[in-house]
Amino acid sequence: MVKVDHDRLLQMLTRLQLIAIREQLDSLLDEVARRDFNFREALAFLCEAEVAYKDQRRIRMGTSIAKFPFVRTLDGFDFEAQPSLDPKQIRELATCRWVANGDSVLLLGPPGVGKSHLAVALGREAIRCGYSTLFITATALMTSLSKAHLDGKLEERLMHFGKPKLLIIDEIGYLPFETNAAHLFFQLASRRYERGSLLLTSNRSVGEWGEVFGDPVVATAILDRVLHHSHVVTIRGESYRLREKRRSGLLQTAHQTSTPTPGGQF
Ligand code: ADP
Ligand code: MG
Repeated sequence: MVKVDHDRLLQMLTRLQLIAIREQLDSLLDEVARRDFNFREALAFLCEAEVAYKDQRRIRMGTSIAKFPFVRTLDGFDFEAQPSLDPKQIRELATCRWVANGDSVLLLGPPGVGKSHLAVALGREAIRCGYSTLFITATALMTSLSKAHLDGKLEERLMHFGKPKLLIIDEIGYLPFETNAAHLFFQLASRRYERGSLLLTSNRSVGEWGEVFGDPVVATAILDRVLHHSHVVTIRGESYRLREKRRSGLLQTAHQTSTPTPGGQF
């Protein structure tokens, strides 16, 4: 029988970076004894604890790097409230195959229908699947690119936004872009084309993007890249927030839901 030196065992677990096994050694071994595991079962049991810990840590780090503005999940999405959405399509997107293929996703629809919610939820799924993800609003993105352009650091910024496997750009079309934005966005879209995925949300239909970007020719070139391998999800219907308010009696009937949508196309 090999004499086990407890401190030596802890040192080895530290050196192998088996953190979860080291931290929970006594309770894991008690459990092994209680369940009367053989060696193989015990090894699998310890490995499972370590893998679960490392997965959790990876997801936590990936989520913090992604800079989501809030926590939203697919489980928290009420599909019954949004009949224009096909739950099957969203479940398919949740498998992350589109990220693996470098495809794009466009979530289109009027304000309040859950575009940002789904964008964050799909971003979390991408992280769970192991893909680096970054979330940014269109306004913050364009401000950052314009500033970098002025400072002669555009290349650096394009690299930064080109790196994550999935870049989520929320709220395209809410605020007008400044001149030059179309060219900067085009450079970003070209850089990411067929390399990384884009998830874009907008309250404007793609037909209006010429106006959004202030340059129909460049907007067409952007769309050409974005739509080439893409999944377009158009959400219709009323704002979830207004619906909730009306339910609680704060608002009354249908005329209250006519939130003006720029272009009113949905
Ligand atoms: P959008 O980005 O389309 O303007 P949001 O995603 O910000 O809309 O949704 C507005 C609020 O309503 C958010 O708090 C979101 O979580 C919630 N919400 C929208 N649609 C749903 C839904 N179908 N189920 C649950 N919550 C929803
Ligand atoms: Mg939104």
